[in-house]
Amino acid sequence: MINFQYVRANDVADAVRQIAADPTAKFIAGGTNLIDLMKEDVERPARLIDITRLPLKTVEETADGGLRIGALVPNSDLAYHPLIQQRYPLLASAILAGASAQLRNMASTGGNLLQRTRCYYFYDVATPCNKRKPGSGCSAITGLNRMHAILGTSEACIATHPSDMCVALAALDAKVHVTGPAGERAITFSDFHRLPGNTPQRDTNLEPNEIVTAVDLPARGFAANYTYLKIRDRLSYAFALVSIAAALELDGDTIKEARLALGGVAHKPWRDTAAEAALRGQGANPATFTRAADLLLRDAKGFGHNSFKIDLARRAIVRALTQATRGTPQSQSSKKIL
Ligand SMILES: Cc1cc2nc3c(=O)[nH]c(=O)nc-3n(C[C@H](O)[C@H](O)[C@H](O)COP(=O)(O)OP(=O)(O)OC[C@H]3O[C@@H](n4cnc5c(N)ncnc54)[C@H](O)[C@@H]3O)c2cc1C
Ligand code: SF4
Repeated sequence: MINFQYVRANDVADAVRQIAADPTAKFIAGGTNLIDLMKEDVERPARLIDITRLPLKTVEETADGGLRIGALVPNSDLAYHPLIQQRYPLLASAILAGASAQLRNMASTGGNLLQRTRCYYFYDVATPCNKRKPGSGCSAITGLNRMHAILGTSEACIATHPSDMCVALAALDAKVHVTGPAGERAITFSDFHRLPGNTPQRDTNLEPNEIVTAVDLPARGFAANYTYLKIRDRLSYAFALVSIAAALELDGDTIKEARLALGGVAHKPWRDTAAEAALRGQGANPATFTRAADLLLRDAKGFGHNSFKIDLARRAIVRALTQATRGTPQSQSSKKIL
C-alpha cells in the first residue's frame, strides 16, 4: 500500500500556494492518466491536489476574435461546444479521434496537454527508462519501438507525445496560459512541449510550481478546408501511429495559408514552418503536397520497428492536404454520441 494525501484547492492562488509548498505534490484533474501512472508505480505523488472545483470550465470569446478555453473544460464539452464546432472544427475533429467517449467526458484540457508518453518501457518499472529514471538508459532505442518517434529524437529518448488534441492546437497556433508563484505568463504552443534532448524527464516548459489555467485560440480557425487524419492500429480507442492536422486557406486553386502539424512522430506535436512556407503561394495539388511532405520529413530517422512511419507519414501528409483542399474533414464523425 502506498499512502498519499488528498486535498482540494479552493482557487487558483490556493492551488499555486499548495503545489509550491510541496515538491512531491501533483495536481489531479480528470485523473485518466495520473491514476493509471500511480497504479503502475510510475508516479508516486505524496499529495494529490484536486483542482476540479476551480472556476476554469468556461469557453469565452476574447477581444481579438479568438476563444479562451478554461483548463478544466472536459474534452467532450470542448469538442461539442458550438463555437468550436463552427469556428475550429479541426480541434473538434482531433479531440473526437482520441480515447473513448467515457474518457473524453473525464479528461480535461489542461490534463490532455500534460498527459505522459505511452512508451511501453515508461510504464514498465522493471526496465530502464531515462524519462522515468534519468540516467538509467532507454530501452526503446534497441527494443520494441514500433510506436516511437522518427523526428527530433535524442540518444536519451525516442518517445512520442500521445495527444490528438495537441496536434490541432499546434496547427492553430494556440497559446497556453499558466500561473505560478511569480504571477501569470503565456507560452506559445510550439514552446510548451519539449524535445527530449538530454532531459527527457521534462515533457514541457511548465514549471513544477505552475498551473495551466487556459488555452487561447487566435481568430483564424480554418473552418472551411481542414482535416485531422489519424492512422492507428484499430479504428477507435488507439493512439496514433501517425496523425496529421492540415489546414488551408485557398484562393481558387492557390494556397494562401497553410498549417501542418503531426502527431505520433515526435516528443511534441511536430510543426515545420519550412514545409508550410513551401505550400504558400503554390497550387493545391499532389506535386506541391509531396514536396512539402519530403521537406517536413527530410531529417526523419527510424529505429527498426518504427521505420515504416516515415513512408506512412509522407503518404498521410499528401492525403490529409488533399482532403483539406476538397473540404473533406476526417477522421471521425463529429456528431454527438448520446
Ligand atoms: C485507454 C486510454 C486511451 C486513450 N486514448 C487517447 C487517444 O487516442 N488520444 C489522446 O489524445 N489521448 C488519449 N488518452 C489520454 C487522455 O486524453 C488523457 O488521459 C487525458 O486527456 C488527461 O486528462 P486528465 O484531466 O484526466 O488528466 P490527469 O490524469 O488528471 O492529469 C494528467 C497530468 O496533468 C497534470 N495536470 C492536470 N491538469 C493540470 C493543470 N490545469 N495544470 C497543471 N497540471 C495539470 C496532472 O498533475 C498530471 O500530471 C487515452 C487515455 C486512456 C486511459
Ligand atoms: S523512449 Fe523515452 S520513455 Fe521510452 S524507454 Fe526510452 S527514455 Fe523511456
